[in-house]
Amino acid sequence: ARWTAGRGWHDARTGPLAAFTLHPATMALHYGQTVFEGLKAFWRPDGQRALFRPRDHAARFARSARRMAMPELAEADFVAGVEALLRVDGAWVPRPRGQSFYLRPFLIAAETHLSNRPAEEYLFAVIGSPARPATAEPAPIRLWASPEYVRAADGGTGTIKCGGNYGGSYIAQREAAAHGCDQVVWLDARERRYVEEVGGSNLFFVEGDRLVTPPLSGTLLAGITRDSILRLAGRLGLTVAEEPVTLDDWERGCRADRITETFACGTARAVAPVGHAVTPDGEWAVGDGTTGPVTRRLLNALLDVQYGEAPDEFGWLHAVTTG
Ligand code: PMP
Repeated sequence: ARWTAGRGWHDARTGPLAAFTLHPATMALHYGQTVFEGLKAFWRPDGQRALFRPRDHAARFARSARRMAMPELAEADFVAGVEALLRVDGAWVPRPRGQSFYLRPFLIAAETHLSNRPAEEYLFAVIGSPARPATAEPAPIRLWASPEYVRAADGGTGTIKCGGNYGGSYIAQREAAAHGCDQVVWLDARERRYVEEVGGSNLFFVEGDRLVTPPLSGTLLAGITRDSILRLAGRLGLTVAEEPVTLDDWERGCRADRITETFACGTARAVAPVGHAVTPDGEWAVGDGTTGPVTRRLLNALLDVQYGEAPDEFGWLHAVTTG
């Protein structure tokens, strides 16, 4: 669908995936006025498809748009757009557990102009594809604590999903790969002391039966998986705390066996165990470097709800019908 100043939303349509052309002066290409979401649909044993927390993704999408001075899409229109795509994908067949469909709604400045100001024309679209299977036994990852580059600063755009947040992080991702790591663990911009997030995921620490995650301080993305884990943890008898954690706390906690597990979580990977942390000064293992029992329980609790194998106590699933 398109949005034009003075007219609002118009020209919604659905069709097969096809390339589209953009004028070279399209504002999105120059000033980064782009936002997006990532959410999943899961196939349930009864053959039904269900979107996971689409209204929460719609709310975050609207928040992202507002921060970027873009028009907001109503929750119902966001969800309808996502559902429309699921209906055209032509893959209305029951799928085994482990398969899901990833959806990528995005909004870009579509006006053709080189003025440095908010655009007066926008394009909203949704694309999607089958996602790689979630596994109950993911391989532990190694994280690189980026000393030089930061992802987000107070007052910036770290709390939303805009394109520039990601483009700005690739250089640290390269550095992580050069140190034999899978992903970056981001430190706060002010002191480079506090651990905030991992690549495109939120971060959790396990201390006995206590689960700790950094608070939403103004630089973190409020992950929908993060919120889901916090709620599921209570159901599994874990105490949850949102507390700042320094890189030093994390290292000492692991070395003293107080922090026994660490994991990252997000829509794409569900829950990813962290096996090792690497800094310019050295590295340490989390526990014995393998997936811990609390991480495994939380991952399974999440997958069970997503695939309709456990009761949907929180009303997270939104059934999508063929009609
Ligand atoms: N942090 C960042 C920076 C992300 O890009 C993502 C992925 N959207 C997350 C955290 C996890 O968010 P969610 O659980 O909503 O996918």
